[in-house]
Parts: sequence; structure tokens; C-alpha cells
Amino acid sequence: MRCFFAPETDAHDPRFYLVRGQVAANKELPQRAALLIEGLAQAGMTTEAPAHFPEAALSAIHSDRYLDFLRHAHAEWQALPDQGAEVVANVHPAGPVRAYPKGIVGRAGWHMADAACPMGPHSWAAARRSADTALAAAQAVVDGARAAYALCRPPGHHALAEVAGGHCLLNNAAIAAQHLRRHHDRVAVLDIDVHHGNGTQGIFWTRGDVLTVSVHAETSAYYPFFTGYADETGEGDGKGANLNIPLPRDETDDAWCAAIETALARIAAFNPGALVLSLGLDAHEADPLRGLAVTTPAFGTAARLIAGANLPTAIVQEGGYLSRHLSANLSAFMIGWNSH
Ligand SMILES: [Zn+2]
Repeated sequence: MRCFFAPETDAHDPRFYLVRGQVAANKELPQRAALLIEGLAQAGMTTEAPAHFPEAALSAIHSDRYLDFLRHAHAEWQALPDQGAEVVANVHPAGPVRAYPKGIVGRAGWHMADAACPMGPHSWAAARRSADTALAAAQAVVDGARAAYALCRPPGHHALAEVAGGHCLLNNAAIAAQHLRRHHDRVAVLDIDVHHGNGTQGIFWTRGDVLTVSVHAETSAYYPFFTGYADETGEGDGKGANLNIPLPRDETDDAWCAAIETALARIAAFNPGALVLSLGLDAHEADPLRGLAVTTPAFGTAARLIAGANLPTAIVQEGGYLSRHLSANLSAFMIGWNSH
């Protein structure tokens, strides 16, 4: 399997994170990529750099004013008096009357759902290369590969059409799905990150040509809190083209794999031409953002189940944070996939 990684995404090295009223060290760090590359090596796989894709691939998913915000946010922030090193929103629109503000503090609040997606000097360039990485995997699938893997940093599945959130700036999986959509009438996105794929759901909410399915820890007291419930099924043309399968907190391997089988049955019924897999590894029991209690071998089981769908598949890295199990979780997935 071809695996793509852009080393320049390591320059996105966020510092800030606000959690439960405390400023903490951000968890979406370059060391994640090093551990994931080590996991690929354990499965006998190496990475190659992705091509540079035109910005039109981003505009197909994200609004122009959002892309403009991401492109210039850090420079505008640095021009503020007494500013911090990273763009972090501290005010958000509320109420029925909203005006799109001109200044960078207001626009940051408009375009950022939470304080977990700080932007430093290299964040925009990294986000673009991360999207290129997903596009390269999608293109490899278009070119005939059964599957390809994109080691994306920053991740993407919490990013909406014009709102960042949860460590995500550009929605890499949605951008890959849209690229595949140019070659197939129907595309499915399966998200097995422990967190609900709220950005991907939101982007395709009113579309019937892209099925979105998310298996995640239930969100009544867990990020992203406001979505991820089983009654969210889409609207308009998208009615019935979204499936959420929330699992009780701390659920283990059997229930997680059974939920993935349920997801795959829905995907088979949709009969897509290609699949995007949002591969989070943070369902693992030792992940620092723990929501479920999945063990390393279950990632191999999940891979065999998903490979069994026999769909051309772009595998896009989402979450999975620093723990001594991160490499093993990716290698278990890849060994499982390659054994199918
Ligand atoms: Zn996650």
C-alpha cells in the first residue's frame, strides 16, 4: 500500500490547549507523526511525499472566506497589541443577529468552534500539505490502488465548511471524498475515530451522494458534545445519508467491532464506488483522550472487516494521541488490512 506523509507538516507544533478551565499543552503534536511512521515501519511500510494539489480541491469543501481566514490569520494576529503567539479564539457569535466581523479576533471566534485548534506561523502551510496528503491517497485510489494511506497532521474530521475545531483546520477526509466523488456517483465516509466526526457530518449533511457513518464514544458528556447522536440522519437530499453509532463510554473490542460491522452493512446497502476511512486510533484504552477501551488487536480486526468491504479505500489519519501503544495500533491495523 502506498503511504503518504508531508514532512513539512511537522512545523505545525501547537502549544495552546484549554481544557476544563486550565491551559494545558496541546495534544496534537509532531511526535504523533514520528510514532505513526514507526508503526508503518513495523508493518514493513514506508512513506512518500504527496504531490501539491490545486487550491480548488479545498474550495470544493470550504468557504472562500474561511480559507482566506486560515491563510492570513497568524500574520493578522501578530499585528495585534499584546498578542499571544498563536491564534486562539476567546469570543464566539451567539443569538439570532450575527454580523461577519472585520477584525481578526472576531473572525477567529466566527471560524473556530473551540480553543483546541490554535494556529501558529506554520499551521496554514501544514494544513494545506495535510490536505494534499489525503488527496494523494484519494488519487492513488482513482489510479487503481485498492487502498492508500494518508498520514495527515493536522487531522480534519472536526472541521466544518467554515469552522475549525478539535485540532482540525481543513477536513482532509471530506476533501478526499469530494475528489473521489468526481470519479464515482456515490462515495461513503466511515469514521472510526473515538470522537464523533461532526465536521464531516456537517459538510455532507444535506447531500445524498456522500454517505457519512461515524462509530464513536457517546457524546452527552464527551467531545464534541453537541452532535453525534443516533437521531441525526441528514436533511433534504441528505435525509438518511448519515448514520451515527454512539457507544457507551469505556466500551470494549466486541461492541466496537460489532458497531463497525453495522456501519459496513449500511455502507454496502448504499453501494458506493469508493470509501474514505477516517482512521482515528484514539479508541484505544490507553489513549490520553480516552473515551472507549479498545485493545491493540481490535485495530487489526477492524482493518480486516473494513478491507472485506472490497471498496477502493483512501485511509485518512485522524486522532490517536501520544501513548506507548500508538505505533502498535497503526501497525496492527496495517498488518490486518494487508492480510485480507
Ligand atoms: Zn479523536
